[in-house]
Amino acid sequence: MYKRCSCKDGNGRSLGAECPRLEQSKHGQWCYRIELPADRAGKRRPKRRSGFATAKEAQKELDHISAPGPRCWSTR
Ligand SMILES: [Zn+2]
Repeated sequence: MYKRCSCKDGNGRSLGAECPRLEQSKHGQWCYRIELPADRAGKRRPKRRSGFATAKEAQKELDHISAPGPRCWSTR
């Protein structure tokens, strides 16, 4: 899990995770990135989502996705 924002430096380059203001809890958004098990065709399925206000929210969804169980997660 990581945090990122849309701040840019003087050259218009996106700061991403390098923004010093990310230490402030209200700044930026939480994101996660996980690798789901390959599908039947052997294709890898990395999954990424951003836009969580808090780390807790992101973690909650992450737990839901990676939890083994009968529940099917659709990437569509
Ligand atoms: Zn920022």
